[in-house]
Amino acid sequence: MKVLKFGGTSVGSAESIRNVREIINSQKGRKIVVVSAMSGVTNQLLEISEVYNYGKEDKGQGLMLELKLKHLQLIEELIENKETKKVTRNLFHELYHQLEETLKTKPFYEAEVITFGESFLSLIFSQYLEEQGVSNTLLDAKDFMHVSNVENPEIQTVQKLLKSTLEREVTSEVYVTQGFIRIDRNKNISTLKRGGSDYTATIIGAAVNATEVQIWTDIDGFHNNDPRFVENTTALTSLTFEEAAELAYFGAKILHPQTVSPVKEKGIPIYLKNTFTPNAPGTCISDEHHTIGLKAISAKDGITAIKIKSNRMLMAHGFLKKIFDVFDKHETAIDMITTSEIAISLTIDDARNLDKILSELDEYGEITVDSDHSIICVVGEGVINDHETFRLFELLNDLPVRMISYGGSSNNISLLVDTTNKVQALKLLHQKLFEVKILNAT
Ligand code: ADP
Ligand code: ASP
Ligand code: MG
Repeated sequence: MKVLKFGGTSVGSAESIRNVREIINSQKGRKIVVVSAMSGVTNQLLEISEVYNYGKEDKGQGLMLELKLKHLQLIEELIENKETKKVTRNLFHELYHQLEETLKTKPFYEAEVITFGESFLSLIFSQYLEEQGVSNTLLDAKDFMHVSNVENPEIQTVQKLLKSTLEREVTSEVYVTQGFIRIDRNKNISTLKRGGSDYTATIIGAAVNATEVQIWTDIDGFHNNDPRFVENTTALTSLTFEEAAELAYFGAKILHPQTVSPVKEKGIPIYLKNTFTPNAPGTCISDEHHTIGLKAISAKDGITAIKIKSNRMLMAHGFLKKIFDVFDKHETAIDMITTSEIAISLTIDDARNLDKILSELDEYGEITVDSDHSIICVVGEGVINDHETFRLFELLNDLPVRMISYGGSSNNISLLVDTTNKVQALKLLHQKLFEVKILNAT
């Protein structure tokens, strides 16, 4: 069994959905196809949710109409057969009505509302495939994606539920299901957080012991820097699970931060491919190809740096433990740490409990907080031994760097900069680490 996931732009128009059908058709064997919502739809649903929450129902109705028309237009453009078109429209209206009912319940769960994008699209897509002669079974992710702990999903539970779903459903070569959706520990409909369809694909991949997971998107694989901010980035042909996990966790938008973990232990490879240029090689994430040295750079925003300065730290033991205990108590993960003899700086990305943390840290020394920072992460197996790595420190000449973490692992060097300097830092690092390398090689 293979798992193929298609993201928002891959299913964003009738034309791209036709590409998706060809990709599915070109591959033999049983497959589970995971689809996202059409691009933009999750954002529309978030807005609808907010508007209804504030009781602005007039505006909400306008937005709902827009959402409905977008999907009806897709059905119109995609499905040729009159009868199938009618059936699909009716099924869509039923689901749309469910969304209207959900919005009427007060209070409603925002997470539940935003999952409708995946439900709409998977329904239309499944009907379209069937019309085109691709026999398929639509699976409801709510039947098996029972994930109480998003950080550490219960693969065995999903495995058991998915097994009985597959046994119950008509046997077909192609199963279609929704990404993003999960059932939480209270049995409520929830999500795997933004961009979560990638994660659905690898959770399912691990649950069915898939031979591979393919993630189809709008770019030809994992690039060596963020193409949204830096020019001349290039696609990597391979990454190890560790490298990909690190880059995804530290902000590379192409993968949801947790995508790699479910398949890593089982050694199931992930292929990142472009729906619009399916013959391009893309990136293979596995443990097959280890190449030493610098691979890629990514950046994660929304970081808060906290500095605790205390003379009591001087020659004292147990001080760090007390500090870490405060973060532990408030269930807040620490990403970066640097220390000097009298101070410790650390970063967090989840500032929900910041006030409580700060009031407890107060007794340990003088506290400074810097919000709106970004961690820039330079990744590659053995990167700290790469001959070009020293150039990274030239960045200190060009812009202020708040923290550097070097040597914590041989595969990662992290720098903390003010978010206003992030794009410049990414560009400069690209020049220093990749473009100079190319010049040297020519
Ligand atoms: P999908 O809707 O298919 O899930 P996403 O928008 O979530 O697609 O992810 C693909 C986008 O990620 C690309 O279009 C690109 O702009 C962005 N991106 C950020 N960093 C990288 C990177 N290192 N390599 C490739 N793409 C990246
Ligand atoms: N549709 C969801 C989102 O936009 C999930 C995904 O695309 O992966 O976040
Ligand atoms: Mg995505």
